[in-house]
Amino acid sequence: MAERRPIVGGNWKMNTTRAGAKQLCDSVLRGFTERKIDTEVVLYPPYLWLTDAGDLINASSIKLGAQDGLTEENGAITGGINLTMLSEVIDALLIGHSERRNIFNETADKFSRQLIAASDLGLLRTYCVGEDHTQQETGSTYEVLAEQIGSVFAGEEGEQLSHSIDSNPPSFVIAYEPVWAIGTGLVAQPNDVQDRAEFIRAEISKYCDVSDLIRIQYGGSVNQKNADELAALTDIDGALVGGASLNAEEFLAICEAFSTNSR
Ligand code: PEP
Repeated sequence: MAERRPIVGGNWKMNTTRAGAKQLCDSVLRGFTERKIDTEVVLYPPYLWLTDAGDLINASSIKLGAQDGLTEENGAITGGINLTMLSEVIDALLIGHSERRNIFNETADKFSRQLIAASDLGLLRTYCVGEDHTQQETGSTYEVLAEQIGSVFAGEEGEQLSHSIDSNPPSFVIAYEPVWAIGTGLVAQPNDVQDRAEFIRAEISKYCDVSDLIRIQYGGSVNQKNADELAALTDIDGALVGGASLNAEEFLAICEAFSTNSR
C-alpha cells in the first residue's frame, strides 16, 4: 500500500485570546514531545496570533497554517492579508472550508488560485470538500464531491494544479468534511466516510497520477472518543479538527490515535 504519513490539523477558527493561544500552543507542544506523537500536525490559529504561535512552535516539527489568505499582489486592498505576506510566517494553508464557502460566498475560482499560489510559495495545501445536510438528504453527496474537486482542476490553472501535485504529492491534502457534521456533534458513519474517501481518491485520479499518495482527512466533530474508529479506515489519513483542537489534551489524544505508532 502507498505510504501516506498521517496528518492532523487543528482549526481554531475565530477563537482564543492572545494569552489563550500561546497557552494552547505551549500545551500542544509539550504533549506532542512527551507523547512522541508520530503524526504530521498543523495548527491554524487566527491571523493575529500566527507570529506568537510561530515563535513557540518554530523549533518543533509542528507546522503553522493560516485559515485563509488572498492571492492578490500587495496593493490597495484595505484589510487584506495575502499569501506572500503570510508565507513569511506559515507553512500551510486551509482552502475551501465550508465556512468560507457559506459565510463569505467563496467559490472554486478563489480556491484554485489559492491552491496554485500556495504551491508556488512552498506551502502545504489542504482543500476542504463536503456535502451539506440537504445534499446528503437528497442523495447528491457524490455529485457535490465530484463538482468541488473537478472545479479546481478545470482549465489551464487546473493543469498547473495537477502538475504541482504530481511533482509533490504530500503538499496536497483533501479534507472530507460533511458540513452537517461540523460543530454539531454528529459524526458520519465510518463506512460512509470510507466510501466517500475512496470516491474522492478515484476523482483525484482523473486529474493526477499520484492519487494513491494523496492524504485524505476526515473532519466533522472528531474527538478523542471517535478518533480510533476513524483512524482505522483504509483511506483516511488524518483528521481536520475544529472544536476539539481548542483543548490540548483532546487534540493530542486525536493526534495519538492517528499516529503511526498506534496504527
Ligand atoms: C472544522 O471546522 O473543520 C471542523 C471539523 O470542526 P469540528 O471539529 O468542530 O466539527
